[in-house]
Amino acid sequence: GWFNVIAFAEEIVEELQLISKQNQLIVYEHTGTSAQVFLDHNLLKNCIINLISNAIKYSGENTMIQFNTKLKENELLVEVKDNGIGIPELDKVNLFEPFFRAHNTGDIPGTGLGLNIVKRYVGLMSGTVTCQTEQNKGTTFTLHFNFNQQ
Ligand code: ATP
Ligand code: MG
Repeated sequence: GWFNVIAFAEEIVEELQLISKQNQLIVYEHTGTSAQVFLDHNLLKNCIINLISNAIKYSGENTMIQFNTKLKENELLVEVKDNGIGIPELDKVNLFEPFFRAHNTGDIPGTGLGLNIVKRYVGLMSGTVTCQTEQNKGTTFTLHFNFNQQ
């Protein structure tokens, strides 16, 4: 249904700030003239929680996580950017496969299911998900939704 993406995002940040590491700040910024979007609220929330939880888990203390929503007339971009461990070049192709974990996760726990769920939920909402990453520098995941496709 229709909902206000800014209020929705601010609520998620408030919840996730509680599980972040010491001095790990989640900074939310938004652009757009309107705030109303038509998407499945629960599916989108689950996707964003997965991405921000990863950003928290795969980056250190005293770092910033940038969370942005950019709403244009017919499209919404959702970005989650961290300055964490990044993902090795060779692992990028497998990121969305179930149970896949990159080779630099060390003793950081996980099952490798979060991103597979994100990909499937984004697909259910007719969107796409992309990843830009550099090992030891950081990672940005972007969700893209276009509203003028019927
Ligand atoms: P979980 O099922 O609990 O989410 P997970 O975090 O290991 O476990 P995914 O969220 O599916 O699984 O992520 C898959 C892999 O992609 C991770 O194991 C990690 O190697 C890599 N990854 C995902 N997000 C990031 C990130 N923000 N920074 C660095 N690596 C990441
Ligand atoms: Mg995860």
